[in-house]
Amino acid sequence: MSNVILVTGGTGLVGRAIEHVINTEPEGSRFGKRPGETWVFASSAEGDLRDADQTRKLYEKYKPTHVIHLAALGVHASFRRPVQKHELTFLRDNILINDNVLHVAYEHKAQKVISCLSTCVFPDKVEYPLDENKIHNGPPHESNFGYAHAKRMVDVQNHAYKEEFGCNFTSAIPTNVFGPHDNFDLEDSHVIPGLIHKCYLAKKNNTPFVVSGTGKPLRQFIFSYDLAKLFIWMLREYDDVEPVILSVGEEEEVSIKEVADAIVKAVGFQGDYSFDTTRADGQFRKPASNKKLLGLMGGFQFTPFNEALDYTVKWFLNNYDTART
Ligand code: NDP
Repeated sequence: MSNVILVTGGTGLVGRAIEHVINTEPEGSRFGKRPGETWVFASSAEGDLRDADQTRKLYEKYKPTHVIHLAALGVHASFRRPVQKHELTFLRDNILINDNVLHVAYEHKAQKVISCLSTCVFPDKVEYPLDENKIHNGPPHESNFGYAHAKRMVDVQNHAYKEEFGCNFTSAIPTNVFGPHDNFDLEDSHVIPGLIHKCYLAKKNNTPFVVSGTGKPLRQFIFSYDLAKLFIWMLREYDDVEPVILSVGEEEEVSIKEVADAIVKAVGFQGDYSFDTTRADGQFRKPASNKKLLGLMGGFQFTPFNEALDYTVKWFLNNYDTART
């Protein structure tokens, strides 16, 4: 049987990781390429998914039987930006992208669509740990207003398409992702790629490496290659509309200080290294439960954090000229 798997946002951090895993895991294995599979990793240059006609053309070109929908705008937007500035854009653009991807998948009778949400979609005021039942239980943090609401609507649409047309649409909720091909921009980036770049520059310029905040907050980070395997598992083995949190366990939270220490070691930085405690810390913890995932998969071997971080730093150092900086 031949299957065509279209990965939207195929040129981003997560898309590149899925491509890597599919091409490097043994063929026919749980996460490797299977006979009869064609994988397509689409960038925005292949079609702007905000536009319905361009989305239809993309589907007509590849005729996907399955879709992993990663494309989104605002993924790496800085929380330091003025909150109002991009919210309408992120809301509208992401609503348009998601609506086009899902509706055209329905028109093309795609057998399955897995869309990517994020733990930022959860309510700001919520009882921790986060789990799959709490997505709609209150407004998201104001800094994520547009992005989070657009993503929440994907879950709503998945249920509606299933109820009305029997579509096999579902969603995945990753925690903080890091790995090769991340966005290493110094302003608009997540904590790990931002600190890697900062530490690299401190070493190169012989300047101090200063980390914002106390370093005490705890976070769950997932290595993009592990996340890629979990998407491939969902594609092949999970057939339910309800979302699944894709994350390391709560017991594998690491502090920002542990992150910074690991970066200092991986970069080989020996200069002045300190924490700027005058800068505000984010929330202390936002733990998410991966019980549903592990219960369904029957266990998964996550890459140890330090090993994954070391790999990512090496990738950044070797690809500095072409990395997103
Ligand atoms: P990236 O920002 O690295 O990549 C975004 C991808 O989307 C790129 O391939 C980009 O194409 C594509 N894209 C953006 N706009 C459009 C458009 N209008 N039409 C078509 N394609 C478009 O994102 P990540 O890989 O980090 O994230 C993937 C998914 O995972 C997202 O849905 C995100 O919300 C989710 N997620 C990410 C987390 C993280 O920590 N990174 C955490 C939790 C969830 P091009 O390269 O051409 O611009």
